[in-house]
Amino acid sequence: MDRTLFAPEHDLFRQSFRQFLDKEVRPHQERWASEGQVDREVWRKAGAGGFLCPWLEEKWGGPGGDWLCSVIVMEELARAYESGFAMALHSDIIVPYLHSFGSDAQRAQWLPGCASGELVTALAMTEPGTGSDLAAIKTTAVKDGDDYVINGSKTFISNGQLCDLVVVAVKTDPDPANAHRGISLVVVEAGRPGFVKGKKLHKMGMAAQDTSELFFQDCRVPIGNRVGVEGAGFMMLMNKLQQERLCVAIGAQAGAEQVLKETIAYCKERHAFGKPISKFQNTQFKLVECATKVQIGRVFVDEVVRQHVAGKHLISECSMAKWWLTDTAQEVIDDCLQLFGGYGYMLEYPVARAFMDARVQRIYAGTNEIMKVIIAKQMGL
Ligand SMILES: Cc1cc2nc3c(=O)[nH]c(=O)nc-3n(C[C@H](O)[C@H](O)[C@H](O)COP(=O)(O)OP(=O)(O)OC[C@H]3O[C@@H](n4cnc5c(N)ncnc54)[C@H](O)[C@@H]3O)c2cc1C
Repeated sequence: MDRTLFAPEHDLFRQSFRQFLDKEVRPHQERWASEGQVDREVWRKAGAGGFLCPWLEEKWGGPGGDWLCSVIVMEELARAYESGFAMALHSDIIVPYLHSFGSDAQRAQWLPGCASGELVTALAMTEPGTGSDLAAIKTTAVKDGDDYVINGSKTFISNGQLCDLVVVAVKTDPDPANAHRGISLVVVEAGRPGFVKGKKLHKMGMAAQDTSELFFQDCRVPIGNRVGVEGAGFMMLMNKLQQERLCVAIGAQAGAEQVLKETIAYCKERHAFGKPISKFQNTQFKLVECATKVQIGRVFVDEVVRQHVAGKHLISECSMAKWWLTDTAQEVIDDCLQLFGGYGYMLEYPVARAFMDARVQRIYAGTNEIMKVIIAKQMGL
């Protein structure tokens, strides 16, 4: 079925981003995976090309496009099997906090660098003791004169090594009675005394993503680095997490489509028992099932994107898209991997990496169980 989301200018944007991927990303993917992070320079190149924060207004240093350009970036990264270069996390998950809730002074200070790639961002919510239960975080920010003094540790933080700015979820009021209203968001710049980037974590997938531990030990940050009002952190996070969930769904969908496309081509070429394996009924049924799931996912996610871009606050639908599309992508990729036989298990075949990369999509950005908790609440259950 034809997609109707995009205008001709989006097609041009897609073409130019594909060229960028061919020139600046694909040749380095193998090395980035072995080094455990992407080159710092590729962020600046992406900024120079207008691919970071493509929706950001020109007055803040952005390219002045719309969010559909971001959707294209996410889709094309997934199609290139690039899971380390966390452009969407930066452009569509973290920078929106600064853009929506920052003061004009903060926007002027940080947004141009975010769009140019001079400033790479990270978002630090998760701690060793808590992930899903955000209200239970223990990192504290205590006022002392004009500063906050931050103490605590965060883990599983994407862009943890390369980040220049970290939006940190902290407790400004540790009273358990104010668990939700005690959370604030504070920006910590790399290089501040007391802010230590810990080790890069070894993961089963996303080999080129520098997911890390972060530590704050009496780290002083001006109170002016707080984003939004004190105690509004939980509300701001809940407000923006819809888009985060949708981003994960968009990537999962595009990844499943790409794997399916390559699997169909492989099944037509690979022979067994004197004929292409695509001629076995089992192969056909599996591919038909995958194609049906992928088609249904495409229609749903495009409609959620359309309404999200139109300004609707879709709590249930973003959560539905996140859990269903990531579960479905995993099923599709698993079925496709099986059709590759032994080659599907070999890392030089993209389907093997796609399988390992896809697994985390059911865990981060809120686990799929938490998505169902949210939907159940919306259903009044
Ligand atoms: C590669 C990677 C990158 C990440 N990047 C970031 C990042 O950049 N920033 C950041 O802050 N975090 C990041 N995370 C952390 C991620 O968001 C958390 O791992 C996730 O939210 C789950 O939290 P947890 O690991 O503490 O699991 P837990 O919260 O301990 O959950 C364990 C299990 O219990 C289930 N569970 C928990 N509560 C409920 C409930 N109420 N009902 C039913 N089941 C429940 C969960 O679904 C899960 O299956 C990343 C994680 C990974 C793996």
